[in-house]
Amino acid sequence: MKSGSLSVYAGYLIVGDGKIQENVYLGIEGGVINELSDKPLGDRYGEELDYSGKYVMPGLIDAHVHIRYDPLGDPEKRSHEYQALRGVENARKALKVGVTSLGEAGGIGNVVFAVRNAINNGVTSGPRLFVSGEMITITGGRSKVPGERLEVNGADSAREAARRLLMYHNADFIKLGATGAISSAHTGPRHPQLSVDEMRACTEEAHNCGKLVHGHCYGERGIGNSLEADVDVIVHGQTLTDGHIKFMKKNGLILMPTLKAFCGHLENIEKGGVHTRMEEMGIWAETEPNFRRALEAGLTISMGTDAGMPDDHFTDNYLDLQYMVNWGMTPSQAVTAGTLNAAKSLAVDDRLGTLEAGRYADMLVLGRNPLEDISNIWTSREEVFLNGVLL
Ligand SMILES: [Zn+2]
Repeated sequence: MKSGSLSVYAGYLIVGDGKIQENVYLGIEGGVINELSDKPLGDRYGEELDYSGKYVMPGLIDAHVHIRYDPLGDPEKRSHEYQALRGVENARKALKVGVTSLGEAGGIGNVVFAVRNAINNGVTSGPRLFVSGEMITITGGRSKVPGERLEVNGADSAREAARRLLMYHNADFIKLGATGAISSAHTGPRHPQLSVDEMRACTEEAHNCGKLVHGHCYGERGIGNSLEADVDVIVHGQTLTDGHIKFMKKNGLILMPTLKAFCGHLENIEKGGVHTRMEEMGIWAETEPNFRRALEAGLTISMGTDAGMPDDHFTDNYLDLQYMVNWGMTPSQAVTAGTLNAAKSLAVDDRLGTLEAGRYADMLVLGRNPLEDISNIWTSREEVFLNGVLL
C-alpha cells in the first residue's frame, strides 16, 4: 500500500467520535497523521491541500462484508482463483465510494488472506482489509458440501481451527456460526449451532492474540450462547432480550445489525431466496424494533453491510448508515457507527476510525456536513484518501 506525506487544511474536521472542529491543519507523514494544529504547518510536509469550507472525515469502515461472493451467482460453484479476483474488484468498488477499510467475514481456503496480503504488499491496490478467513461452524452448519467450510466438533477441534486461522494466516478476527443462517436454507436461522464450549475455546485463542470474535446469531439461545462464550461482536442479533442488552452494555460489547442486508430486501422480494426467507421466518419483522431497543439502550453499534449477499452490493455500502438514521439514530451517531465503532469492532481503533495524531490518514472530503444530513457522505463526496494518498 502506498503512503503519502502532505499537509491538509480542513475547514471542518469530523473527528469520527461525534465531535467537529473548525480550522484544522493536519500534518501527514508516511500515511499517518503526525500532528493537528490550528496554525499553518509551513512546508515541512511538502504538498499542501486546501479544503476551506469543506468537511474532512475518516474513511468509512464496513466491518462485515463478503468480497468473494457474487451477489448474482453461487460462490460455491467458482474456483478459488476466480473468487480471489472477484474479491479484489469488490474491495475496490467499496473504496471508490469512500469505504477505506473492510472487515471480511466469510473466506474460503486462502482466498481472502491472499487478497489482504497482496494489497498490503502493494502487489495490487485496494482498501485496507481485515479478514477472519473461513467462518468456524459445526459440520454442515453452512454448506451441505462436505469439507467446504471450517467445520469443528468439540472444543479441542474448535480451538485448533481458531489457532490455524490466527497462527498460520494471521486472521484479523474470528467469525463463529453460533446459529443457522437465512442464506443456508437447510438450517434454521434461530437454531443454535456451535456450543458454548466450542465458542469459548475460540474466544480464548483470539483474545490471547488481541483479536476479537464476531458471532453470527439469531434468536435467544444462540445470542445467549455467544455472550456466555465471551464473543465480542453480535452480528445480526435479532432478537436481543433485555438481559442480552444489559449484559452487552455492561461489558462494552458491540452490535452489528447489518441493516443494509435486511432493509434492501423488500424491493427484491419477487426474486425469492433470502428475500422471502427473512420475511417467512419473522426475522424482518423483528429487525426494526430490535435495532431501536439497542439504540435506546445506548449499545455500541457498528456499520456492517453484509455486502456480497444477494442484491447487497459493494457500490452503496454507505446506505447502512442511512437505514440507521431512518430508524432513529442521529447523523452524528451514524457517522460514529461507520468510523470509530466499526474500528472498535475490528480492534483497530488505535489506528483507524478517528482523525487524530497517530491514526492513518484515511479520509473523505465532503462539500456538506454529514452531521446535519448523513447522505452528505455520498451526495457531496469530493475526495477519498487512503493512507495519506489521494485516490
Ligand atoms: Zn455475513
